Amino acid sequence: MAAEIIMPKAGMAMEEGTVVQWYKEIGDPIEQGEAVLEILTDKVNMDVEAEASGVLLAKLAEEGTVLPVFTVIGYIGAEGEEVPAAQAAAPAAPAAKEAPKKTDEAAPAPASDDAFDVIVLGGGPAGYVAAIKAAQLGGKVAIVEKIRVGGTCLNRGCIPTKTYVKNAEILEHVAHAKNRGIMFADSAFDLDMDKIVGYKDDVVMTLTSGVAGLLTSYGVKQYNELGVITKDKKVRLASGEELEGKKIIWAGGSQVAQIPIPGIDHERVLTSDTILDLKEVPESMIVIGGGVIGCEMAEIFNAYGTKVTIVELADELLPMMEVEISQALRAQFEKKGVTVMTGRKVEKFEGESDKVTVTIDGGQALVGERALVSIGRVPDLSGLGELELEMNRGRVVVDDKMETSIEGIYAPGDINGRHMLAHAAFKMGEVAAANAMGHDETVDLSIVPSAVYLLPEIGAVGLTEAEAKKKYGEVLVGKFPFAGNGRALASGELVGMIKVIVEPKYFELVGAHIYGPCAAEMINEAAALMAAEVPADIIADTIHGHPTYSEAFMEACADALKRCIHLPKKA
Ligand code: FAD
Repeated sequence: MAAEIIMPKAGMAMEEGTVVQWYKEIGDPIEQGEAVLEILTDKVNMDVEAEASGVLLAKLAEEGTVLPVFTVIGYIGAEGEEVPAAQAAAPAAPAAKEAPKKTDEAAPAPASDDAFDVIVLGGGPAGYVAAIKAAQLGGKVAIVEKIRVGGTCLNRGCIPTKTYVKNAEILEHVAHAKNRGIMFADSAFDLDMDKIVGYKDDVVMTLTSGVAGLLTSYGVKQYNELGVITKDKKVRLASGEELEGKKIIWAGGSQVAQIPIPGIDHERVLTSDTILDLKEVPESMIVIGGGVIGCEMAEIFNAYGTKVTIVELADELLPMMEVEISQALRAQFEKKGVTVMTGRKVEKFEGESDKVTVTIDGGQALVGERALVSIGRVPDLSGLGELELEMNRGRVVVDDKMETSIEGIYAPGDINGRHMLAHAAFKMGEVAAANAMGHDETVDLSIVPSAVYLLPEIGAVGLTEAEAKKKYGEVLVGKFPFAGNGRALASGELVGMIKVIVEPKYFELVGAHIYGPCAAEMINEAAALMAAEVPADIIADTIHGHPTYSEAFMEACADALKRCIHLPKKA
């Protein structure tokens, strides 16, 4: 069967890409892994490689066309092979949102009187919030979780990683203490990894049992086993019991993507799940993937004393971020001794049991005590069973109400791939529950702050400068460096800056990008002001406490309007 060429999603925020140029003509032979065309993501040009060998059978998009991610843009196959519906891929409609075509299937089968109002499958941020919300709205609710409530976020994601980032921060503060005249008797440190992992586990247990307690307090019936949605829209548990519900919220979340790179199952190759239980500090580690998880792990293990090398396919680390911030991060990593290799692709893993050799394109071999593969997550479809839902490349298609193609079945959170962050999942879960309980709500994911927990942190919301220029033509850009901020100076936190993007008509803030201390906290101020459509002049005129890091945000807005007091006069 002909292999699809698709517009890839090369970053969390990437919604669409532009076909820049085709390298091949119809009928040209192509080898698997060979570049077929060049695309422009939201900030980088990159090649799309063939996933199969054959000849180019169809080009479904002309050069210059802007298309949503995951659109099929061509086919590769055997000479003369028919391609499915070889019509041109539709350009991205400006405000078009993915919405499933509702099937003729009825809502979940008529439920008996003692049926649940809502059954939630999956107890992560989307699922447990949905369960609590549905119960708050008066529903009789059940939640089915195969591992432990809290999901990826509490058990293997947001929270455990932040215990490790805090350790890295402590080590960095101690290392800098002598510059401030605080002399410890001995600058050497030892890491007790049993205790480090134990501390992390305690935090996880505190939070996950807190969530279980919340569910209990709302009378949500909890089942701790795998569940599958049946064809007649019940939820079958691993024990064989079948739960009947009027509505189903499927919040199965995501899992580490299985990438078919030879040798990826080498015992020294870790994932974001397994690295969290590592009981020793590796002498060296090769991090494959310079996205959010890869960069956070590189920061942590570099602080722990590991010699870290990051290998990233795109031309920059964090390719979805404002390019100046990606470049500043690279410089900061290199200053700390992390080797950063961008525009490089991993070909294979091999080696003896005590080391792993990572071969990258061009044949270069990198040897490490460990490798971490952090190149993506995919929806966990273990709950799908025989249900025939509309899917798009492995993601469940939902509308803005979080309803799937089958009426009465909702799919909030990572499983729909719309915005794979815990706080987006919280919101999607709440909206799904409200709709399942008869309300009429939609989710707006246009303003979702994101953060990368590094030293210093990164926070971003809204459009990058390039995206804003594409949308508005000319825009106003304001910047303020932390080196000019009193609190940052007093704290020795001089790295980084705040950049704001303001549209030229109403001076509305349309993007904010922070690389600096407490960026993950500060970005929420920008998000709230953007949601309230507050113009930059009001932000610049709002008295901010002094000395605070967030004064830099006010100053950046003033800079966009060319009236920043604490920056030298510009020519
Ligand atoms: P999940 O959290 O994946 O939860 C789904 C749950 O459903 C799981 O508990 C799973 O066991 C259960 N389940 C699945 N199928 C079944 C079934 N058939 N039967 C029963 N149970 C089932 N996001 C942030 O916002 N901030 C961060 O700092 C951050 N850091 C991260 C760090 C790492 C290392 C990782 C991997 C992710 C991070 N994320 C972060 C992303 C965040 O964890 C996810 O976006 C969020 O957990 C999604 O919530 P969810 O409820 O959709 O899915």
